[in-house]
Amino acid sequence: MRVLLVEDERDAALMLAKGLREHSFAVDIAEDGPSALEKIHENTYDLVLLDLMLPGMDGLDVCRQIRREGAVLPVLMLTARDAVSARISGLDSGADDYLCKPFDFQELLARIRALLRRGPALEDPIIRVDGLNIDTRDHTARRGDRVIELTAKEYALLEYLARRRGEVVGRAEISEHVWDETYDPFSNLIEVYVQRLRRKIDQPGELPLIRTRRGEGYILGGEDDVS
Ligand code: CA
Repeated sequence: MRVLLVEDERDAALMLAKGLREHSFAVDIAEDGPSALEKIHENTYDLVLLDLMLPGMDGLDVCRQIRREGAVLPVLMLTARDAVSARISGLDSGADDYLCKPFDFQELLARIRALLRRGPALEDPIIRVDGLNIDTRDHTARRGDRVIELTAKEYALLEYLARRRGEVVGRAEISEHVWDETYDPFSNLIEVYVQRLRRKIDQPGELPLIRTRRGEGYILGGEDDVS
C-alpha cells in the first residue's frame, strides 16, 4: 500500500519513511501543503500521513482541500499538540484519525492498518485466498502449513494482489500502490517480483495461485478458467 507522508522536518520524515518501507509500504514524501496536493493529483495513494504543523498552508488546510476536491482517501493527522482543540479541529477538517507526537511506531502501524481496513471491505485482518492466508497484522503469509518467507516488497505486492483477489490487476495499478514515485515505468521490476512471489507461493504440485493474463495483468486466486 502506498502512503504519502507530509512532513516538513526532513530528518523526521526520512526516519518515518524508512520505518514504513521496512513494513512494506511504498512511501512518497511531501515537505509542504501545495506539493502534497500536487502529488495527490498525480499519484494514487492508499493513505495520507499528514503533519499538522507545516509552514504556510498547515495540515488542517491541506486536509480541507483534499476533502473539498472530493478525495476519499484516509487521512491520519500527526499533531504535536495533545490539546483537545487540536484534535477536534483535525477531525473537523476531514481527518479520519489523529496521533499525537511523539508516538509509538507500533501504534502508528496499528492505526494505519485500521484505516486501510475501512476501505473496500477488509474487516478481517487475515486475507484468505484458496488456502493462502495473508496476515496483514504481522505481514506473514502461509499456504496450508507452510510459512512463506517474504521480503517487505514481496509482501507488499502479495497483499495488494490479495486485496484485489479474483480480479485482473494491471501493472499500472500495481506500480501505483506497491511502488513509490521513484518507480521507472519502463523497468521490468513488476515481472521480476511476480516471478519471485510465484516461486515462493506455488510449489511443484500445488494449484498455481498467481496467474498472468497476457497484456492485462495478474490475478491472485479466483476462477480456474483464466488462461
Ligand atoms: Ca512539522
